[in-house]
Amino acid sequence: MSQQGYVATPPYSQSQPGIGLSPPHYGHYGDPSHAGSPPGMMKPAGPLGAAAPGGMLPQGPSPPGPHQFGQNGAHAQGHPPQRFPGPPPVNSAASSYAPYSPSTPSSYPSPASTSVIAQLGHQLSAMHINSYGSGMAPPGQGPPGPPSAPLFQGPPQPPQPSIMQPGSQVLPPPPTTALNGPGASPLPPSTHRQDGLPGPAPLNAQYQPPPPPGQTLGTGYSPQQAANYGPQMAGGQLSYPGGFPGGPAQMAGPPQLQKKLDPDSIPSPIQVIENDRATRGGQVYATNTRGQVPPLVTTDCVIQDQGNASPRYIRCTTYCFPCTSDMAKQAQIPLAAVIKPFATIPSNETPLFLVNHGENGPVRCNRCKAYMCPFMQFIEGGRRYQCGFCNCVNDVPPFYFQHLDHIGRRLDHYEKPELSLGSYEYVATLDYCRKNKPPNPPAFIFMIDVSYSNIKNGLVKLICEELKTVLEKLPKEEQEDTSAIRVGFITYNKVLHFFNVKSNLAQPQMMVVTDVGEVFVPLLDGFLVNYQESQSVIHNLLDQIPEMFADSNENETVFAPVIQAGMEALQAADCPGKLFIFHSSLPTAEAPGKLKNRDDKKLINTDKEKILFQPQTNVYDSLAKDCVAHGCCVTLFLFPSQYVDVASLGLVPQLTGGTLYKYNNFQMHMDSQQFLNDLRNDIEKKIGFDAIMRVRTSTGFRATDFFGGIFMNNTTDVEMAAIDCDKAVTVEFKHDDKLGEDSGALIQCAVLYTTVGGQRRLRIHNLSLNCSSQLADLYKSCETDALINFFAKSAFKAVLHQPLKVIREILVNQTAHMLACYRKNCASPSAASQLILPDSMKVLPVYMNCLLKNCVLLSRPEISTDERAYQRQLVMTMGVADSQLFFYPQLLPIHTLDVKSTTLPAAIRCSESRLSEEGIFLLANGLNMFLWLGVSSPPELIQGIFNVPSFAHVSTDMTLLPEVGNPYSQTLRMIMSIIQQKRPYSMKLTIVKQREQPEMVFRQFLVEDKGLYGGSSYVDFLCCVHKEICQLLN
Ligand SMILES: [Zn+2]
Repeated sequence: MSQQGYVATPPYSQSQPGIGLSPPHYGHYGDPSHAGSPPGMMKPAGPLGAAAPGGMLPQGPSPPGPHQFGQNGAHAQGHPPQRFPGPPPVNSAASSYAPYSPSTPSSYPSPASTSVIAQLGHQLSAMHINSYGSGMAPPGQGPPGPPSAPLFQGPPQPPQPSIMQPGSQVLPPPPTTALNGPGASPLPPSTHRQDGLPGPAPLNAQYQPPPPPGQTLGTGYSPQQAANYGPQMAGGQLSYPGGFPGGPAQMAGPPQLQKKLDPDSIPSPIQVIENDRATRGGQVYATNTRGQVPPLVTTDCVIQDQGNASPRYIRCTTYCFPCTSDMAKQAQIPLAAVIKPFATIPSNETPLFLVNHGENGPVRCNRCKAYMCPFMQFIEGGRRYQCGFCNCVNDVPPFYFQHLDHIGRRLDHYEKPELSLGSYEYVATLDYCRKNKPPNPPAFIFMIDVSYSNIKNGLVKLICEELKTVLEKLPKEEQEDTSAIRVGFITYNKVLHFFNVKSNLAQPQMMVVTDVGEVFVPLLDGFLVNYQESQSVIHNLLDQIPEMFADSNENETVFAPVIQAGMEALQAADCPGKLFIFHSSLPTAEAPGKLKNRDDKKLINTDKEKILFQPQTNVYDSLAKDCVAHGCCVTLFLFPSQYVDVASLGLVPQLTGGTLYKYNNFQMHMDSQQFLNDLRNDIEKKIGFDAIMRVRTSTGFRATDFFGGIFMNNTTDVEMAAIDCDKAVTVEFKHDDKLGEDSGALIQCAVLYTTVGGQRRLRIHNLSLNCSSQLADLYKSCETDALINFFAKSAFKAVLHQPLKVIREILVNQTAHMLACYRKNCASPSAASQLILPDSMKVLPVYMNCLLKNCVLLSRPEISTDERAYQRQLVMTMGVADSQLFFYPQLLPIHTLDVKSTTLPAAIRCSESRLSEEGIFLLANGLNMFLWLGVSSPPELIQGIFNVPSFAHVSTDMTLLPEVGNPYSQTLRMIMSIIQQKRPYSMKLTIVKQREQPEMVFRQFLVEDKGLYGGSSYVDFLCCVHKEICQLLN
């Protein structure tokens, strides 16, 4: 398909079957394991139950025909105001789009814009990117604006916030920097074009291709291969740049007029982020309105829970669900929620209230078992309530009775968190505990690989030293002085060593288990201990471990038996817990879970490539299952110097809610800081154990698929050995009946878990969404960052079963479908050549292209198999903020630092053309951080940051900036720590000098450019998507 689609398509003149022929998957990838619709437990499968929205069925929506796209114009003049009972009418749409709504036609074209048009002249492409069609004006704002000027990036901005100032001054690279290379067209200063593109472009302009390959490349780089998505581009097929030899049929205009598409004219992620910051940043966001679209994840604001869960806990791909499954199929917008139940809440927001009904336990609907929440409607003077999820009318338990006021609300409405808040916790009764007895507090077991190389490179000593410190910081209940978590220690190579660290011992005692085929725990008493009580014995042990194995020549290790031992130790102690495993090599010793090196690059670009992502034995799968059953979470710190089969070793951490950290070719002086930060952070982070999550919905739709660090024994219960503050579960919903505009769509996520202190609790998050029979409402309420999170996880899950080529095609197809459906049904009539994007999805193409270029989906032998498996696993548990940064890194111009200000400089777009050799730039994606130094970096900055006189003196052999007593140094280090804050992984800093070899690594993160190992530039991808859309519309 991609050959017909956006990738290959040598000349446009080839007649191609539209991508409409291939969307059978509808966001799924034919994963056979999901072929059936699970019988929802909370509500009977409706008439549409098992056959409901095609979902994972092998056939999907039919090709777009009149049926799918036949409703054009129905609401071109704006749609009727929505009616909502209960909660106040949704003004969220209006508020979220406020920055764009005042788009009075008179603002366009402005004189400035006109001059820029003139200036750009020939550069401008024919692609008209409309922020939203004139039919898309928010409801309640009167008739939509005149259908004239297609906006590129929204109307004129409100006064620029201060944060914009520094960035906008430096954004435009000097016209002729070496980076642009000879012959490259100088970019217009972007300060002239705050709105991205000034004014309307000619209606019948042609589609204009980008320049030939190499034209925009920097001088220091080897020539780039053509953009491609892997195999399909091999051989003589033409890629985008310059790939229009014949003058495509669909394109107007002769080839000689083909010009470069100006990157400034296409939607800028940075502009979208800055606009949202400008309008919503620093404000209080109250969650009192159903279907309200929250500020972007990149916008700082204060969230106030007024009846719906904070977006820190739940974000949705759209906050307005289509009323029918037909509409959902038509738009192909995934309906999904990204739920981060233990998200960290800033100190200026209210922590969750704890509700305790004593022996009565939580109040729940008799039929669907939903928990008491703001969506329950009290009736009959307060004696009964109607469930908002299943509509069942329940008696109010006597202990819970309360009179109603004149508007039918309970008098204690504001005194009870479960009546007035979106999120809260319940104390769980014994009914919610295993074996009906209170759980024991969790335990942490530290398991250190003491094979030869780990001893020799000093890693074992480093870990032992650090543990002495971090054990002081074990997590505890807020009201407690000390942690209830017990600790235990195991070392291993091809045998296991258990340690007795009981407090009354003078010396720790070691017990060796050599039978790794059937591991048993040789001691119970003295293995798991209270750290404070056994501190001296533990320190004694940690001092001795590096010496103990100093003479060991053992190179072989086991792995599965290590997990098995830890799990059995927890089981024997009857407590949940977490294993911290520090491991370095492929486990080749004779034992269950033994692995061989099966890395085979020949599989790349074949249908068998998926094997590289699958575990090589099913031992780990069943081990993970056992671990989850016993509340045993596994976190793995990997220090590989060669292939270690991450796909196999990482499986148990992933399925048990643990974390995988990987430090390639670990070097003590370069990498220890990153590792130690990760270790400290991981031990201290907020976490719940032995968790089970259930997502309930109101009638008409239900949760059908789950993505994350989870394990599922049935179709509804999401089991997690543990879940911490950084882990998110993405849940997809499907219709099983019609949704009502009045009642909306309600979601309740309940997580039953054990706290670090051993209390059993329920954490409840509620969210109400709108429903509409107007496609425009659906598009208006989308959140691109959440969409990308969903697409990434569903695609990365699919790589286990599907050829990557198919997955890439599906992603492109679905992107085009979503946008074509909007164009057809929601945008005002305009020339077919126009690309019109819904405002909420303006940057979907650029983000989608970033996802397609990620090494997981990019079939390239240059990228290590382990790295691909690793990134796949990371993304599977990411929340929206982390996936946004991961796929579109933050790039900051450091040379514009205002050392008197604490605000970050405004970010710039991730493209080489935005760099300048006089500049210094900081790039971060959540895993890596780069400080890029232009060859002509100002010496005073170099001096200030590195304390050396010039660029030439800067050593790149450092992962920490020196602490120089200079404002530049202090401000830069502060900025780096702000970026690092709230991120689950410690980012390793790499210093990159322009035109030196390591720059190649850095360049991979300039995601708007052509990929180093393939993958198109943003401009090319947008052209491709546009073409796909045109085909769909034709
Ligand atoms: Zn119910």
